[in-house]
Amino acid sequence: MSFSVTVCAAVFGGASAAFVPRAAHRLAVPRGSRPRSTCAGCAVTLATWVRAGATCDCARSPVWTWATGALVAGTLGATIGPAPLLLVLLPAALLGILLAVIDLRCLRLPDPLVALLAAATVLPLSAAAVLTGEPARLGRAALAALLSGLLYLIIALLPGAGLGLGDVKLATVLGFTLGFLGWPALMVGLLAPHLINGPVALTLLLTRRAKRRTALPLGPALLTGAFLGCLVT
Ligand SMILES: [Zn+2]
Repeated sequence: MSFSVTVCAAVFGGASAAFVPRAAHRLAVPRGSRPRSTCAGCAVTLATWVRAGATCDCARSPVWTWATGALVAGTLGATIGPAPLLLVLLPAALLGILLAVIDLRCLRLPDPLVALLAAATVLPLSAAAVLTGEPARLGRAALAALLSGLLYLIIALLPGAGLGLGDVKLATVLGFTLGFLGWPALMVGLLAPHLINGPVALTLLLTRRAKRRTALPLGPALLTGAFLGCLVT
């Protein structure tokens, strides 16, 4: 473990995640709606996308957002060390945090953001596989993306699954990176979301904060699973 890489990654993660709340607030809108241009709390016009800390002057500073960014990025830095892979996974983790916050707010994973995550991971990892003379890695990543997408598509088609096509697309994109890292990473990435969402759903039911038919977002669990999978390298 490289101490300086860990600290640099954690600082990058925390500092960049501080910009997530404003962007998430503007993007967490129903399907087909334009991004929010006013604050949902005090109706003031949100002129820019860029604001560190709270969404608006009327909102509290969400400490957990930058704390999550610092923890996730710092852990990736500690596990991966000074390798080019870290430069791919850090921005991807930031996009993942943005997607998770939006999904928690409005049960949606906007296609343009999932597409951006795909571009930010598939393109550099494919180039890395070719440049390092490991095309087999590229094949494994593509196969893993296909398997992951197919598995979640089957789950989504089951009656009462409570899982949307946005989850299927995200699982496909995450499957590519996990497959690039290896089959054990993919296994963790596929299993962990269910081990996370099961107890969360049970806790919400027991504390009466959710009913049996309440829709729960799967995106945050998928992204957490992928993060844990990235640590199995
Ligand atoms: Zn406000």
